[in-house]
Amino acid sequence: MVIVTKTDATQADIDAVVKRIESVGLQAQVSTGERHTVIGVIGDKTLLGDIPIESMSGVERTMAITAPFKLASREFRGDEPTVIVVNGTKIGGRQIPVIAGPCAVESTEQIVTIARLVQKAGASFIRGGAFKPRTGPYSFQGYGKKALKMLQEAKDETGLGIVTEVMTPHEVELVGEYTDMFQLGTRNMTNFYLLREVGRAQKPVILKRGMSATIEEWLLAAEYILSEGNPDVILCERGIRTFETHTRNTLDLNAVPVVHELSHLPIVVDPSHGTGIRSLVCDMTKASVAAGADGLLLEVHHDPDHSMTGDGAQSLFPEQFETLMQELKPIAVAVGREI
Ligand code: PEP
Ligand code: MN
Repeated sequence: MVIVTKTDATQADIDAVVKRIESVGLQAQVSTGERHTVIGVIGDKTLLGDIPIESMSGVERTMAITAPFKLASREFRGDEPTVIVVNGTKIGGRQIPVIAGPCAVESTEQIVTIARLVQKAGASFIRGGAFKPRTGPYSFQGYGKKALKMLQEAKDETGLGIVTEVMTPHEVELVGEYTDMFQLGTRNMTNFYLLREVGRAQKPVILKRGMSATIEEWLLAAEYILSEGNPDVILCERGIRTFETHTRNTLDLNAVPVVHELSHLPIVVDPSHGTGIRSLVCDMTKASVAAGADGLLLEVHHDPDHSMTGDGAQSLFPEQFETLMQELKPIAVAVGREI
């Protein structure tokens, strides 16, 4: 259940409602929007019994949330989208921020070079895997902590925010010392211990869609993070497995407007993993912006033929990335956004 307060509700009104909720052993989550403050009631609302929340001072209405994901549901924020500020960049607002970089961090020189190039082209974040979730155990698994330090150097050089993946609950603290946003990869969308652990962290989380997950399962995974108290979840559509084998995955752009209908959380799109083929990435990035993506995640490599993961084939050359960033501008404007 959520309680929507009146636009002129005072802090004392809100505190009184929270106190009432907590007095019966329920949890209250307060989220402050531009128009209303919304108080989410977590737990069995029958515990409220006959307590007349609706007649309390400052309360406009109460609403039951029927979706299985509660905190992630659109109603939870009274129809206001969540905007998350990371390293000075807004995600979920009018601007469409771009996260770009190689699949994996391979050396200081590599990550600093790419960071400079993508920054020049207009990216706001440098990405790169330090801990890589590889399908086979003999493939390059990432340089771990050493790579985190290399990302830090790229940030120091460029000011770009860092996005990197965390794979296990016990590495959340270490990765959190370096990254501005955690990435949870497709293979870990249902790693519930990891979801809970990043839910207890104080950093935003990019939650990639499981490659076989329905949108509802994905939003329930987000709910795990939110329910631990971390409100800053960004969903990332990165393609799903279908019967189609021409492309690495099928980029499900339906997910963008569906998520906007169902949830207040921002959704970014990753056309690199969504297609797996460099020649398709630019077109699908344009389509992502047209569909309403709140951000983009793109693999860019200055020497993709020598990339240490198999993802060189889907990585854009820096010049392609630069051109793409320009070509996206009028598309963003056409859908009321900016890039
Ligand atoms: C990645 O971003 O490099 C990655 C491994 O992504 P995904 O989890 O979507 O496969
Ligand atoms: Mn990759």
